[in-house]
Amino acid sequence: MAHEVPALGYSFDALEPHIDAQTMEIHHDRHHATYVAGLNAALESHANLQGKSLEDLIGDLDALPGGIQTAVRNSGGGHWNHSFFWQIMAPGGGEPGGALLDAILAGFGTLNEMKAQFSAAAAGRFGSGWAWLVKNSAGDLQVTSTPNQDNPLMDGSGDPVLGIDVWEHAYYLNYQNKRPDYVTAWFNVVNWDEVARRFGG
Ligand code: MN
Repeated sequence: MAHEVPALGYSFDALEPHIDAQTMEIHHDRHHATYVAGLNAALESHANLQGKSLEDLIGDLDALPGGIQTAVRNSGGGHWNHSFFWQIMAPGGGEPGGALLDAILAGFGTLNEMKAQFSAAAAGRFGSGWAWLVKNSAGDLQVTSTPNQDNPLMDGSGDPVLGIDVWEHAYYLNYQNKRPDYVTAWFNVVNWDEVARRFGG
């Protein structure tokens, strides 16, 4: 059973004006589709791996045959990261509350300080990659960042609860070289209910 691009839970223009419809359509229908095609191609001649979950594949890359480790890391990571990214965004925005907000305040003092550290990680990631807010093994929130399509599941550093794609394909049409402006605007479309669900799970 081949891996598939999941449907978006909202329309391409639902996140405007913060993320434009054309960026969303290209990002979901072409970039994400390319990662899925790459993952399926890597697994094509490995029938024993085709039934494994995506999390199992990218969570133990060293267990894979050497010839496909890089492909699964890049394409499988890209598939997981984008599937996650579509879910932790939604139109309407809002603010975090409940146990998630308590953990943010415990870890960072204020919500703005968490956003500042997350934004600095996003801005400071040289080249392409992601910034993350993860729940570590102690249950605490931490800001991290990864290059390329790597993610915190690959080194067991925590469970992602929030993450932003800072590849240029995620923002170049609207923001060109102004990555920090994209990050600032992006906070308006964070789906805090989904972030809270992932934190609590
Ligand atoms: Mn992307």
